[in-house]
Amino acid sequence: MALLRSYVCGRWHTPTADGAPLHDAVTGAEIARISSAGVDMAAALDHGRRVGGPALRELTFHQRAALLKVLATHLTERKDELYALSTRTGATRRDSLVDVDGGIGVLFTYSSKGRRELPNAKVLGEGPVERLSREGTFVGRHIGVPLRGVAVQINAFNFPVWGPLEKFAPAFVAGVPTLIKPASPTAYLTELLVRLIVESGILPEGSLQLVCGSAGDLLDHLTPQDLVSFTGSACTARKLRTHETVVRHSVRFNAEADSLNCSILGPDATPGTPEFDLYVKQLVAEMTVKAGQKCTAIRRAFVPRALLDPVAEAVSARLAKTVVGNPANPDVRMGALASLEQREEVRRSLKALGAAGTIAYGDPTRVDVVDADPERGAFLSPVLLRADGDRAEPHEVEAFGPVSALLPYDSTAHVIDLAARGLGSLVGSVVTGDADFAADVVLGVAPWHGRLLVLDQDDAAESTGHGSPLPALIHGGPGRAGGGEEMGGLRGVLHHLQRSAIQASPAVLSRITGEWVPGAPRLPEAEHPFRKPLSRLRVGDSVTAGPRTVTQADIDHFAEFTGDTFYAHTDLEAATANEFFGGIVAHGYLIVSFAAGLFVSPEPGPVLANYGLENLRFLTPVFPGDSLTVTLTAKQITPRETADYGEVRWDADVVNQDDEPVARYDVLTLVAKS
Ligand code: NAP
Repeated sequence: MALLRSYVCGRWHTPTADGAPLHDAVTGAEIARISSAGVDMAAALDHGRRVGGPALRELTFHQRAALLKVLATHLTERKDELYALSTRTGATRRDSLVDVDGGIGVLFTYSSKGRRELPNAKVLGEGPVERLSREGTFVGRHIGVPLRGVAVQINAFNFPVWGPLEKFAPAFVAGVPTLIKPASPTAYLTELLVRLIVESGILPEGSLQLVCGSAGDLLDHLTPQDLVSFTGSACTARKLRTHETVVRHSVRFNAEADSLNCSILGPDATPGTPEFDLYVKQLVAEMTVKAGQKCTAIRRAFVPRALLDPVAEAVSARLAKTVVGNPANPDVRMGALASLEQREEVRRSLKALGAAGTIAYGDPTRVDVVDADPERGAFLSPVLLRADGDRAEPHEVEAFGPVSALLPYDSTAHVIDLAARGLGSLVGSVVTGDADFAADVVLGVAPWHGRLLVLDQDDAAESTGHGSPLPALIHGGPGRAGGGEEMGGLRGVLHHLQRSAIQASPAVLSRITGEWVPGAPRLPEAEHPFRKPLSRLRVGDSVTAGPRTVTQADIDHFAEFTGDTFYAHTDLEAATANEFFGGIVAHGYLIVSFAAGLFVSPEPGPVLANYGLENLRFLTPVFPGDSLTVTLTAKQITPRETADYGEVRWDADVVNQDDEPVARYDVLTLVAKS
């Protein structure tokens, strides 16, 4: 029988012991054996720090993000292999879509976000430059730099592809090497994933390692620069976050644990309304996708007391149509749990939950299945509980399978209190056509939730659903859900960077961040910067142009020409009465237009387009007779990795004849590389 190998220290390691058997969730046949015996955990971490880290830090954020896209494309080409093996975890094609395509989708998203939202640099300047002194010679800014350690990623068994990829992508963009420790029951699928990645040769050596089997003494070797991203049960999370080494070194520890997520039906959503049907459909989907083995699945279904019966009937009728069995059969809507042990675990939880109510649908002891043996495979019927009383179990016991409990509520305040009894959840949903109810519930339960979906007939067709974490939004939740936060676009990248507040002169701060800071010297104006392609343009290149006097005729003309005849530009009496102006003033957009006319270099050249302005502020009114001077300075240069141009952000500083600031903004342009 195949022994799963680990990929550490740049080579595949075969375990030095026989290992424990892993079984096909559908047939019960042994698939592989797993053990981490003989893996030198300290050496693996050291390899990541010594080989992977430096190789990643040689690259910019954009270069790493571009590699992610290459990797995502490669995995897309090979995904059939992942799908084929995924069936053995009990997953239907629909389940594998979430795991395999969902995981690859995270790579694509992080690739594109990394290139659009981060600088093409090795350091991240974060937030504004803070002026810390009267004269502006002492300023401050936060920067983000990659941690010098390894991102140890411990995953749960239920998403053997998506789980590792959603953790790896932000770590990789940040420039921190990854060590994946998949959950044993489905580690054979993660091993295939890592094999496909390693064989592609796309990633720098040391940036991705894999340990199959027990974590052994892995955590003992953590340093203050390493971090742990854990997904699994609350009980394991508790054990690991209090690990002596984690505590001693204040190792960043992010946990995604189990949670008792809820879905709330609005009182308006009575039978016959679109929202009633949406609620029922979503609840059944959440119970049956991945056979309910989703950390985000709906465990508590809150419905107005008067709607308990109709909801129970509608959900049961729909569950009755759910074909359970071998996921290779296209008629099957729900496959097996990941293992027989997992089925026993769910049955134990169901026993505990059973004390709180009655079973409205399903039989935990038997199920009809197609194309499989119901005992050898880890099959379980969907089970809908009905808990009319006020027992604690539904708010405390997670049955990690196709199990939900229907619970009644009596008022908005009541359902907000009930939702909070889960003590922190990854996600909740509110299904209602009443925006007032939605707003009250969302604001009431948001402190307990990492994500909230409001579903109604307007967004249902395009909604991604209750159970799907999205790379652009955070995944995580307070309290029982682990208190962590993953993905969330750039937030996931920031988690792998050390934020450091730098205090310095503008010149030094510019040098450190690679972005020009107001107050830093500008480079001599030998040539108009619009004549310079990216190959020659430098941060700090500038042009000063003007003065140009603004006349009353200019203001009149602009008002008539554009139709902007706001009284401050056209009605002397009214403008004089305005406490901000005290007389006719020039249009702000006239100032911006005149500034462009002053700094432009009109002939065709490397500047290809102006694609916007940001942070525009008008600071001092401009009166007829005032004269304007503008200084344009190259503030940030971002060459694109996959195009022959890049973005240049310019600082535009417009002053009047008394050197008072009139307008300040960033001009955004596209500039050719050569
Ligand atoms: P688990 O038993 O807590 O295991 C999770 C991971 O921790 C596995 O990789 C496991 O490895 C590892 N582990 C266990 N003990 C360890 C130790 N002492 N040192 C280092 N690693 C250790 O959870 P699971 O059974 O795989 O997953 C099911 C649970 O995860 C459910 O409760 C579910 O709600 C939760 N979950 C949460 C999320 C989320 O995003 N919040 C997502 C999915 C699942 P071995 O398998 O080798 O023991």
